[in-house]
Amino acid sequence: MTVCCPDCGFTTDNLPPTHKCPECGEFSHDWLIYDWEEFVAIKRRHIKYNVAILGALLINVLLALALQSSNAFQWFLTLLAIPAIISWLRCSRQLRARSAYKGHEAGVVFPWFSGLGGL
Ligand SMILES: [Zn+2]
Repeated sequence: MTVCCPDCGFTTDNLPPTHKCPECGEFSHDWLIYDWEEFVAIKRRHIKYNVAILGALLINVLLALALQSSNAFQWFLTLLAIPAIISWLRCSRQLRARSAYKGHEAGVVFPWFSGLGGL
């Protein structure tokens, strides 16, 4: 695994435990990790989550239609399909663009619905 300091571009094999760059002395939580295999595994997992969410939402919509539901929350849940689809498309685009890969931040392990990561 290769990691890269976001401040000075210093690269090393292991992330310093304190996240302090030995080169420029900056602390950062945004060290870039160069590990395409890991990145692919993370993105594939996120795609699975999104597929599962969309499947559950589809069942929810079908149920709501079948029961002629007037439950606003049930319909409101359907809106979650929007970030799920965006995230799905984004993940699959990133998986096709290996040449554009410039390392990833540790935060990418969090899927969008965790509230910690971006889309
Ligand atoms: Zn540095």
